[in-house]
Amino acid sequence: RKTRVAIVFGGRSTEHAISCVSAGAVLAALDPDEFEVVPIGITRDGRWVLTDGDATQLAITDRRLPEITVDSGRMVVLPADPVGNNLLVLDPVRGGQALDGVDVVFPTLHGAYGEDGTIQGLLEMAGVPYVGANVFASAAAMDKEFTKKLAAVEGIPVGPYAVLRNGVTLSEEDKERLGLPVFVKPSRAGSSYGISKVTDWADLDAAVAAARQIDPKVLVEAAIVGAEVECGVLEGEAGGAPEASLLAEVRVVEQGHDFYDFEAKYLDNSCEYDIPANLPEQVTRQVQEYACRTFTALDCAGLARVDFFVTPDHTVYLNEINTMPGFTSTSMFPRMWAATGLEYPKLVSRLIRTALRRGSGLH
Ligand code: ATP
Ligand code: MG
Ligand code: MG
Ligand code: MG
Repeated sequence: RKTRVAIVFGGRSTEHAISCVSAGAVLAALDPDEFEVVPIGITRDGRWVLTDGDATQLAITDRRLPEITVDSGRMVVLPADPVGNNLLVLDPVRGGQALDGVDVVFPTLHGAYGEDGTIQGLLEMAGVPYVGANVFASAAAMDKEFTKKLAAVEGIPVGPYAVLRNGVTLSEEDKERLGLPVFVKPSRAGSSYGISKVTDWADLDAAVAAARQIDPKVLVEAAIVGAEVECGVLEGEAGGAPEASLLAEVRVVEQGHDFYDFEAKYLDNSCEYDIPANLPEQVTRQVQEYACRTFTALDCAGLARVDFFVTPDHTVYLNEINTMPGFTSTSMFPRMWAATGLEYPKLVSRLIRTALRRGSGLH
């Protein structure tokens, strides 16, 4: 029979809508001759809904963001089948009758409760293979504090930063050490939600409060002046070394954007991209090598997008890593791979094949 793949999207994070858009693109790209799709949306309050998988409902139209609600489909629960090593989609409407099991899950979820090891843990419990990083790698990569710490131990350069745990404020020493401007960000988030650039210490408290709306733990980072350069990494085929894509440079060109914020990412068409990034060969190789090393340092699997800053004198700093990067056909990760020679549908089926090959044991 065909491979049954559950696409899980939406979810409880601030990136609910972006997850829907990513899922819409994956749904549209799956070859119906190869895959049978089980499209499962998660509402903002965490209810699981079996949708009709209509990809056109999962797009941004006129700046309106898609959302999964209880009306998007039938409510389902997903317990494990302890014998069949499978995830059963139970349909309470039909008296708890089980739909067929799912062979593999593509958790197209961004941010907390999805990109952070939580759904990965659920799937490990159920013994179901899934696309992407395992529990630990997902949690470590979602948390910018631990990403930096683990990368730094492996010799990957990270910029100066301070961690403000719940209730803690930035010390005078740290203000002096970091200097202005700083970027204030939730330690665990994405799509630039909760991030501010602070150019006056008088604005720091408000920026920290905004970040804490999303995560009680906040990072304050020295602003790095330089190009934003991204690299796609794929797990090697048949257990080989991770592979790096061509690099992308992202530039925010429209006035009104201080940095690569949410609007610039998804709403405004205010970004320009160079793929490949216009960098000397040697710098490109350095970034690709750091990207693969970060992937390995965090024990990633499947895929990741690793983001850097490259200063005018070509010093490279790791910014962050995303274990489930934006996945629409115009998102950076698929674009970088398309430019490298792997078209979107092939990329999707490679990720699913990798997950199936890995199976459901520890990885
Ligand atoms: P993503 O959507 O890629 O997951 P994110 O929400 O995890 O993003 P970051 O990538 O850390 O957030 O930051 C968002 C943007 O803010 C960056 O793309 C960059 O434009 C700017 N930025 C963040 N940190 C810094 C820094 N230390 N120096 C300069 N710019 C920064
Ligand atoms: Mg991120
Ligand atoms: Mg992200
Ligand atoms: Mg980023």
